[in-house]
Amino acid sequence: MSDTPFYGSDYEALEALDPEIAGVLQSELTRIRSGLQLIASENLSSPAVLTALGSTLSNKYAEGYPGRRYYGGCSEVDKAEQIAIDRCKELFGAEHANVQPHSGASANQAVYGAFCQPGDKLLGMSLPHGGHLTHGAKVSFSGKWFDIAHYGVDKDTEDIDYDQVRDLARQHRPKVILAGGSAIPRLIDFQAFRDIADEVGAIFWVDAAHFIGLVAGKAIPSPVPYADVVTFTTHKVLRGPRSGALVCKEEHAAKLDKAVFPLMQGGPQMHTVAAKAVNFKECMQADYQQYAKDVIANAQRLAAGLAERDIRPTTGGTDTHLALLDLQKVGVTGADAEARCDAAGIVLNKNAIPFDPQKANVASGVRVGTPSVTTQGMGLPEMDVIADVIHRAVTQTDGDPEHAVAKEIRATVEDLCTRFPAYPR
Ligand SMILES: *Cc1c(COP(=O)(O)O)cnc(C)c1O
Repeated sequence: MSDTPFYGSDYEALEALDPEIAGVLQSELTRIRSGLQLIASENLSSPAVLTALGSTLSNKYAEGYPGRRYYGGCSEVDKAEQIAIDRCKELFGAEHANVQPHSGASANQAVYGAFCQPGDKLLGMSLPHGGHLTHGAKVSFSGKWFDIAHYGVDKDTEDIDYDQVRDLARQHRPKVILAGGSAIPRLIDFQAFRDIADEVGAIFWVDAAHFIGLVAGKAIPSPVPYADVVTFTTHKVLRGPRSGALVCKEEHAAKLDKAVFPLMQGGPQMHTVAAKAVNFKECMQADYQQYAKDVIANAQRLAAGLAERDIRPTTGGTDTHLALLDLQKVGVTGADAEARCDAAGIVLNKNAIPFDPQKANVASGVRVGTPSVTTQGMGLPEMDVIADVIHRAVTQTDGDPEHAVAKEIRATVEDLCTRFPAYPR
C-alpha cells in the first residue's frame, strides 16, 4: 500500500479482517446504485468528503476549540477546525461559526442550552405541519423540558400562517421563535419572523437543516442576515458528511460555543470536522451553485409531473428541493405508497400532510426530494420518467416485488441508474 494517511480506503484489509461488515458496505453501495434515492434529507457525498471521514483524525481527542484545547497534540486538528470555521463563515457570510455539533439535533440542543432554562417558553412549527421532532415534540427532550407553542400552516394556502405566528408570539411571549422544518416545500419569510421576534423581544432561530445547501449554492435567500442563530445539518442538500453546524451573530458566539462544548457534547469528531471543511470548499465552487439551481428545477418538474397524474403537491408545488405529495385523490395511504415504491426500486418516505386525517404512521402523503438524483446528473427529462414511475408504482402495484408492473418499473429504474450512476466506477 502507498504511504497515504487515509487508511479508511483500505477495503481489502477490512474484507480480510471482517467479511461480514465489508459485505454490508458493499451491498449498501449496490443498493444505492440500483434504486432511485428520493429521500429529501439524503444525498451522495463526494469521495473527497468520504476520504476525510475515513482518516486518522478520527483518533484525536480535541475537547475545546482551536488554540485552547484540553489535550496535547492538537496542532494538526487545530488547522482543520480553523479552516472549517473560516470557510463556513465565508460561505454563509456569518459573523461566527461552530463546526463541532455532531448532528442537526446536537446543534439544536446547543441553542436550547445557550438561551433557555428548563420550562422556558418557545414558539416553533408543529411537527405534523412540517416542523421537526427537536422543535418541541413530546417524545423529544425539547417537548419534555421546554414549554413550546406551535404554529402551523394556513388551511387554504398550506403555507406558514404568519398571522398565527404573530398572534401566538403576542400571547405566549416566547424566549425563542423558531423557523424551519423537515417538510416545508416553500421559502420562509425570514423578515416576517424577524419583525415578530423583535416585537416580542425573542431570539430568532432558524433551523435550516433541510435547505442550507440551497443557500450555500445561492439558489434561495439566506436566513443568516435575519436570524440570531442558524443551525443546520451538513449531510442533506449541502452534500457533506453526516453532521451538524451553526452560525450566529458575534454577540451570541461565546454562549453558543459553551453550549456546544462542554454543556452538550464532549470531544469533537475531528475527522468529521475535516470532512465539513472539504464540503464547504466544494460548496464555494461554481458547479455547486449550478447543482443547487438544478436541484430546485428538478423538484419543480417532478412536482408538476405528479400533479398532472392526480398526485397533488401541497401548496401547489415547491420552491426548494422537496415536494410533499397528497395521495388522497388516488386513494392510497402514505405507508402503502412507500411500500409499493420500495418494491419497485424507488426509495421515498411516507409523510403526514397538513391536516392529515390519517395517523402519523400511516399518513396521507409521501415526501420526495431531488438532492441525490441531481447529484447523479439527472435532469428534467429524467424527472418526467420518475413522475411516471412513481405514479405507476403507487396506483398499479401492490407492494409485491414480483408484481409484473413492479418488475417493469424496476427495469426503467435500472436503466436510469445505469445512465446516471451513483458513485461511478
Ligand atoms: C434533519 C433535521 C434535523 C436533525 O438532524 P440530525 O442530523 O438527524 O440530528 C433537525 N432539524 C431539521 C429541521 C431537520 O430536517
